[in-house]
Amino acid sequence: MKVPFAPPRMDQRVIDEVADTLLSGWITTGPKTKKFEKLLTAYCNVPNVLALNSATAGLEIMLRWFGVKEGDEVILPAYTYSATANVVIHCGAKPVFVDVGDDFNILPSEIENAINKNTKVIMPVDFGGLPCDFQKVNNIFQSENIKNKFVPATDVQQQLGRILVLSDAAHSFGATVNNIKTGALTDVSVFSFHAVKNLTTGEGGAIALNLPKPFDNQSIYDYLCIYTLHGQNKDALAKMQKGNWRYDIIEAGFKCNMTDIMASIGLVELERYAETLERRKQIVANYNEAFAKYPWAQLPEFKSNWRESSYHLYPIRIKNCTEKQRDAIMQKMFDADIAVNVHFIPVPMFSFYTKLGYSLQHYPKAKDNYEREISLPLFYNLTEEQQQYVIDNLIKAVNETLVHRPAINS
Ligand SMILES: *Cc1c(COP(=O)(O)O)cnc(C)c1O
Repeated sequence: MKVPFAPPRMDQRVIDEVADTLLSGWITTGPKTKKFEKLLTAYCNVPNVLALNSATAGLEIMLRWFGVKEGDEVILPAYTYSATANVVIHCGAKPVFVDVGDDFNILPSEIENAINKNTKVIMPVDFGGLPCDFQKVNNIFQSENIKNKFVPATDVQQQLGRILVLSDAAHSFGATVNNIKTGALTDVSVFSFHAVKNLTTGEGGAIALNLPKPFDNQSIYDYLCIYTLHGQNKDALAKMQKGNWRYDIIEAGFKCNMTDIMASIGLVELERYAETLERRKQIVANYNEAFAKYPWAQLPEFKSNWRESSYHLYPIRIKNCTEKQRDAIMQKMFDADIAVNVHFIPVPMFSFYTKLGYSLQHYPKAKDNYEREISLPLFYNLTEEQQQYVIDNLIKAVNETLVHRPAINS
């Protein structure tokens, strides 16, 4: 049996919606993108959402909007995808990595130690779809002691008067903290609609704006529409109106708008997203039930009395397991035609970052999580039979790999 990792759910409904766009005479940013944004805004219950061609673009755009530049520092977890750190480098600023906890998310207690007068932004990551402890994270920035350390260098920074919380919510669309959905949990959140994410548009992403007063999120949204389209003060659709050809470039903007082709996939995905989450939840429950009885299995967290995941990944950790043994277990899964993955190779491990002087040794929990983690297949069309096949093969692979190893520190 062959089990892929996370193929998208593409069917006739998606094909019909995309075909409708393709034949409509309008394929770039237009009515479907605007409709998708409106529905995302309602879903997240935030003032505004801007759809773009990736989460990476969204994160970078917001760093630049906040005026992050050389000499500035941005705090982020060591345990994330490289995009979170790369965008900080793009802006000329310094990524300051912080270790993570047992839930794979940034440790609020460590954030405070990393803050200094150069800190402009913190980017928490909702790993695997499980939201960070935003109450704790937001509290840090509201405290007078931390606010006093903030040195504003731009009008926007002056207006906020504190460190910006820019949430990398690439995994966590639809997740909640105290029944409030991601997007509405902090200042700004960025979602990814990449092909392997819970809700996809092929490539794609969105910025959820939820800035406090005195910010006007609508005017920031209007500005960002221009900033993400060359700084051109009229979009393609507006220019198409009769006689409305003349436009201005008000700054050297970026080019990362979402197309209506992408948005049409998103519209179908969003309409059936509750069903998607329900299905993912069932699969997770099935995995949990199967593995709970094994002392080697450290089950991931999905739900507690205050937060609930979007069930994006199933990141199981094998207890008392070396990196080599983890790799051997993965190889056995590959040999059985099961696609598994590791989320993530911590960013400080990559050659680009080690050359800058970063080292994984400073993030012991990220290292430990990484060495023992395996992400199992999790997607809408994963059948019961396939789930059982994954379960049986993981149990077999672990037993074969760890069998001769005495339990030292279980
Ligand atoms: C996928 C991902 C991103 C990047 O999303 P894109 O839409 O591909 O740019 C950023 N952060 C995390 C944690 C991700 O998993």
